Amino acid sequence: MLKTVSLSAYYGKIRALTNVSLHVKKGEFVSLIGSNGAGKTTLLNSIMGHISNKTGKIYFDEKEITNFNTEKIVSLGIGYVPEGRRIFTDMTVEENLEMGAFLIKNKSKIKENIKQIYEIFPVLKERKKQIAGMLSGGEQQMLAIGRALMLSPNILLMDEPSMGLAPKIITDLYNKLKVLKKSGITIFLVEQNAKIALKYSDRSYVLENGSIILQGKSSELLNDNELLRAYLGKE
Ligand code: ATP
Repeated sequence: MLKTVSLSAYYGKIRALTNVSLHVKKGEFVSLIGSNGAGKTTLLNSIMGHISNKTGKIYFDEKEITNFNTEKIVSLGIGYVPEGRRIFTDMTVEENLEMGAFLIKNKSKIKENIKQIYEIFPVLKERKKQIAGMLSGGEQQMLAIGRALMLSPNILLMDEPSMGLAPKIITDLYNKLKVLKKSGITIFLVEQNAKIALKYSDRSYVLENGSIILQGKSSELLNDNELLRAYLGKE
């Protein structure tokens, strides 16, 4: 469904990604783990059309999207939940969801999508009139996911969903991701929290200094002692 081939990305002359080739199949939950500064955010930003200084290719559903702009990429069915959530803190929960529907003209379709999102995240329904900035970190993350779901994406790209959340909230959040996967959404996320990402995903890639150094089934990577030593201490 989503594939990068030999993708490199640059900030000026500095190369932040080197020949990254990875793929996510329809219905899979794939994670990319790596420590601070490994290039995880750069990879998502490259896929989403936020970084133009890149080489290599990006495909979505067999179509090359390497140089598409962000709006076009989103309209093809790629949902994106950015690092730090970036919700509109002075708008209500429901207004944030409406903002996520920016490509939908039909008002009743927007209402229908909001209803579906409230079914997945009942807490958002309870708080629909509240100012988003007043929500807890976990609720804000759910709102950011809900906002990305407003366009009914086929795949959801997420940047460090666990960031800044307490362990119990992280578990609740990942259980929600499991529900989304069951409903047919493909998930690709990047995480510094290797333990949780490996526990919940089907397959994983390990990124170090902009290159993929390891990949495999998440359950097998969880048994890799060297990997555990290198990453699992850093949650
Ligand atoms: P984090 O967990 O901190 O977000 P990350 O794995 O997402 O880390 P990136 O943010 O992708 O890493 O950064 C990869 C490398 O690119 C780092 O060395 C970083 O300093 C550098 N970098 C990131 N953004 C820029 C920028 N706008 N200009 C120059 N260098 C940048």
